[in-house]
Amino acid sequence: MIFFNVPAYTGKEDAYMLEAVRSGKISGDGLFTKKCHEWFERELGCAKALLTTSCTHALEMAAMLIEIQPGDEVIMPSYTFVSTANAFVLRGAKIVFVDVRPDTLNIDETKIEAAITDKTKAIVPVHYAGVGCEMDTIMAIAERHGLYVIEDAAQGMQATYKGRALGTIGHIGTYSFHETKNYTAGGEGGLLIINDERFAERAEVIREKGTNRSQFFRGMVDKYTWVDIGSSYLPADINAAYLYAQLESADAVNADRLASWRHYYDAFAALEKKGIDLPAIPAHCEHNAHMFYLKCTSFEERTAFLEHCKTEEILAVFHYIPLHASPAGKRFSRFHGEDRFTTVESERLVRLPLYYGMGEATRQRVIDVVTSFYGD
Ligand SMILES: *Cc1c(COP(=O)(O)O)cnc(C)c1O
Repeated sequence: MIFFNVPAYTGKEDAYMLEAVRSGKISGDGLFTKKCHEWFERELGCAKALLTTSCTHALEMAAMLIEIQPGDEVIMPSYTFVSTANAFVLRGAKIVFVDVRPDTLNIDETKIEAAITDKTKAIVPVHYAGVGCEMDTIMAIAERHGLYVIEDAAQGMQATYKGRALGTIGHIGTYSFHETKNYTAGGEGGLLIINDERFAERAEVIREKGTNRSQFFRGMVDKYTWVDIGSSYLPADINAAYLYAQLESADAVNADRLASWRHYYDAFAALEKKGIDLPAIPAHCEHNAHMFYLKCTSFEERTAFLEHCKTEEILAVFHYIPLHASPAGKRFSRFHGEDRFTTVESERLVRLPLYYGMGEATRQRVIDVVTSFYGD
């Protein structure tokens, strides 16, 4: 059986988790959380990086930081994970979906401006498969209309747009360290990336249950008290220890994933003459091999393809069912403009197994099973 995903494990995770346990401080903001924060602030050059319990929670914090109020509108693609929308719906926002581009499945930057109303507060680009959205265009639109940009870079760690790390271009960015992502904090975890300095102090407060505890520990205030809304968004230090081991091996993980991705790409290039589409990476984007997908010619062909993989004991999967078609989507959102690509492209996409250390034999078995389906 070939699994769709195997969580990354690089070798030092056990030792670091044990070290965290023995340190006697296993709640949030211990030794390893600090090490992770330093690593991210150095690598990303952001104003502040804060580990969170998930990317979902980092997005919820972003919605609080930009003070989303009931009735505000937030523009995003419908082809995304529920948390991208839910984080803003929780604050009372109405979600306005626009279509995706057929090549990258990222938000179509040319459709955003027409969806803006006087209620629009933010744009949330999602860097699908770790491939950057057209951030220059999106930032220019946001600037013209006085909007915030929150990057859902859940899949984007180690990927860049015009040389800039995904998650560091908008006012705020978020990463996920769920076990299905390229780097994991032992199952669940996330990162809030603050690029706009104005949000840095309040982000610490919101993450610490609405208290000024972080400032208290730094000796900046003499009382630790309730000062704002907030929740418990900091992970246990054991999770940070797991993650820190992966950060130390970040380049090795990235190189290994990219090699597997490239192998698939070369092996499947010949399928393009049968109408199968391969992932498109714009020239100014460096991706991180978060995902390898193929787009079958139709929904029916995809169903048969998935059945074939299952019979051959390979766990290939499809991905998002567009949010605007879901029961909650109907309540909390509207789709602006035509759904030209979101639904049809989502119905023909299939994701192949890809994980750190999958190895040559596993990769070749997947390639053989896929090419046998297409009769090569
Ligand atoms: C994984 C993912 C999330 C949620 O991440 P969690 O850490 O599981 O909360 C949000 N958005 C996108 C695009 C994702 O891929």
